[in-house]
Amino acid sequence: MSLNPVHSLFDNPAFEALFSQSSEAVLLLSAGDSPTVTMANPVAADLLGFDARTLVGMPVAELIAEGDLTEALEFLDTIKNRHGAAKRACAMRPADGFCFPAELVAQKIAGADNKVFLLLTFQDLTERIRASEDIALRNIAIANVHSGVTIADARQPDLPLIYVNRGFQEMTGYSAKEAVGRSCRFLQGADRKQPQLEALRSALRNGDACVVRLRNYRKDGSLFFNELHISPVRNEFGELTHFVGIQIDVTERERARERLTLSESRYRMLANTVDDLIIRRDPNDLIEFSSSASTRMIGVDPEDLVGRNLKSYIHPEDRATVVAQMKRILLSEGPRTVTFRMRLANGTYRWFESRDRLMTESSEGDDTTESLIVSVIRDVTLRKRAEEETRKALQKEKEINEMKTAFISMVSHEFRTPMTGIQSSSSLLRKFGEKLGPEKRERHLANIESALKRMNRLLDDVLFFSRAEANKLKVQRAPLSLQAYLAELVEGLSLIYPEHEVRVELETPKNQPYPLDSHLLSHILQNLIGNALKYSAQDAPVFLNLRDADDTLVFTITDSGIGIPEVDQARLFEAFHRAQNVGTIQGTGIGLNIAQRAVELLGGSIRFHSQQGSGSVFTVTLPLLHD
Ligand code: ADP
Repeated sequence: MSLNPVHSLFDNPAFEALFSQSSEAVLLLSAGDSPTVTMANPVAADLLGFDARTLVGMPVAELIAEGDLTEALEFLDTIKNRHGAAKRACAMRPADGFCFPAELVAQKIAGADNKVFLLLTFQDLTERIRASEDIALRNIAIANVHSGVTIADARQPDLPLIYVNRGFQEMTGYSAKEAVGRSCRFLQGADRKQPQLEALRSALRNGDACVVRLRNYRKDGSLFFNELHISPVRNEFGELTHFVGIQIDVTERERARERLTLSESRYRMLANTVDDLIIRRDPNDLIEFSSSASTRMIGVDPEDLVGRNLKSYIHPEDRATVVAQMKRILLSEGPRTVTFRMRLANGTYRWFESRDRLMTESSEGDDTTESLIVSVIRDVTLRKRAEEETRKALQKEKEINEMKTAFISMVSHEFRTPMTGIQSSSSLLRKFGEKLGPEKRERHLANIESALKRMNRLLDDVLFFSRAEANKLKVQRAPLSLQAYLAELVEGLSLIYPEHEVRVELETPKNQPYPLDSHLLSHILQNLIGNALKYSAQDAPVFLNLRDADDTLVFTITDSGIGIPEVDQARLFEAFHRAQNVGTIQGTGIGLNIAQRAVELLGGSIRFHSQQGSGSVFTVTLPLLHD
C-alpha cells in the first residue's frame, strides 16, 4: 500500500491532537493549481455540513461562495509564495448552500519531500457581525438621544467620565473633550450644599442606583435642574466597573412647580384674608381646601373640613338643590349661585349663599386634568330673615287689604236688611199711626227694636273685630253670676229670633259667682247661640248646657239645624268664611272668628262637631282662674 504523503507528514500524535481538538475550523489543502482538501478537522466538517471523509479530496473551490471565489483562490495562490500567515474575509458555502461570512487565515507549510500544503483556518462570523451591528446601532441611539447619557469609570478614583453623548453636550454646553476625564462634579459649580447630594454620594459609595434632582450649571454659568438617574454596571465577576448616568433637563417642570407653589401660597393667603369662606371640592364633593373663615362661620377649623364631604354639613332638605347645582357646574355651565342651610358645630343651621365655578387643573408630570369646584360661601342668614319678614309683611298687608274689602262689602250688605226693616215699619207707623190698631203697631215697634238690636250686635262684632285685629283687646275679669247673666243674654237673643226657643240647662251651683269677663263671654255665647238659632228651623229648640268640671267651665251649644259640610269645617274659624250650605241665611262670617279670639283671650278652647243636615255641637271650655 502506497504511503499517504499526508500521513507520513502529519501522522504524529501531537499534530493529530492539535488538529482535531482545535476550536476553529481547520482544513489542510494541497497546494496545486486547484487546491483540494487533504484533511479536515471536526469543527470544519461541522461548519461546512459535510462528513470529514467526504471533504477529503474535495476542491476547495466548491466550499467558497461563488462571488468570492476568484479572489479567494488568488489569495490562496499568494500564500504559496510567502512566509507567515495572512487573513482574508470570504463567504463560505456549506453543504446546505446557505453561505456564511468567515475570516480565513492561511499559511504555507512544507510536508515531506518539501511538498507544499496550505493550512487554512476559518470561523463563522455571522454572530460576531450581528453583535457588532447591534452595538453600532445602540451607539447611534445613545449618541442621539435628547437626554444626556454619560458613563463614568468606577474603577478609577473620583469616577472620571469616559463617555458623554451629544445630548449631554447640548444640555451642558461642555464638549466631550472638556467633559471626559473629569468627575461629574464640575456641573455643580460652587453650589455644593444641595440636600440631594448626600443621597447621590451614598449611592455612588455603595454602588447603588439612584435618582436625584440637582441644581447644575451650564458652561455659560446658567442654572438648570438636572434629574440624574444613576445605574451601576458590574462585570461578570460582580465587580463594579462603571456608572451609567442619564441626565434629564427638568428646568421647565421645576419652574412650573415653583410657580404653582407660589401661586398656591398666594391663593391660600388671599383666600384666608377674605371674609367669605372659600372651599375647593373634587367632583365627589370631598373638600380639599378650606379657607380659615370656616372657623368663624361654621365653627369648624379648615383642617377638619379637608377630606370631609360638604353634603354632610348641608341641611337634608337643601341637599338635592346643591347636588343638582354641582351636576350643572360639572357640565361647565358657568358660575352659579345656590342658597342652602349649613349645620354649624353647635348643631344649629344658618343660611349660606355659595357662588360656585368649575376649575380645571393639569397635574404636574402628566397630561391628566383634574376638575375642581371652587365655592365662595357667605352667611346670608340676616338677609334671608329680612326677606322672610318682608315676605310675611307683604302677605299680611295683602290679607289686610283683602279683609278690608270683604269687611266693607259685608258691613254694607248686613246693615241694609235691618235698615230696610226699620224704614218700612217706621214709615207705616207715620202714615197710618192710630189707624193701625194696637196689635199691629206693637208688631212694627218690635220689628224696629229687633232690627236695631241686630244692628247693635253687628256693630258690637265689628268693633270687637277691629280691636282684635289691632291687638287692643284686654281681659277684665269680675265675679259673674251666670244664671242671671245667661237669662238676660237669651232674652236679648229672643228679641232678634222671636220665633225660636233656647233651652238653658245649668249644672252649676245656683248663684255661684265666677271670675269671668262678661263682655268677652257675651261675644262667645251670642255668636254661638245666635248661629245655632239662625241655622235651625224655628220649631227646633237650641240647647245651652253649662257644667263646672275640673276647674273649667264647659259651655255646650247644641242644635239640630243644617249642620256644616265637611269641606268647610277646616276653615270655619277663618274670618269671612261661610259654609257652602248657608243658602239665603244672612251672615258676616266673622262671628266664629270673634268667638274663637275671645275664647283664646280667656285661655280656653273651642271645638265643634257637626254633620251636614243633622245639626252641630259647639263646645267651649274656659279655665277657672282662682286668685
Ligand atoms: P255667619 O255670620 O256667616 O254666621 P260665623 O263666623 O258665625 O258667620 O260662622 C261662619 C260659618 O259657619 C257660617 O256662615 C256657617 O256656614 C257656619 N256655621 C256656624 N255655626 C253654624 C251652625 N250652628 N250650624 C250650621 N252652620 C254654622
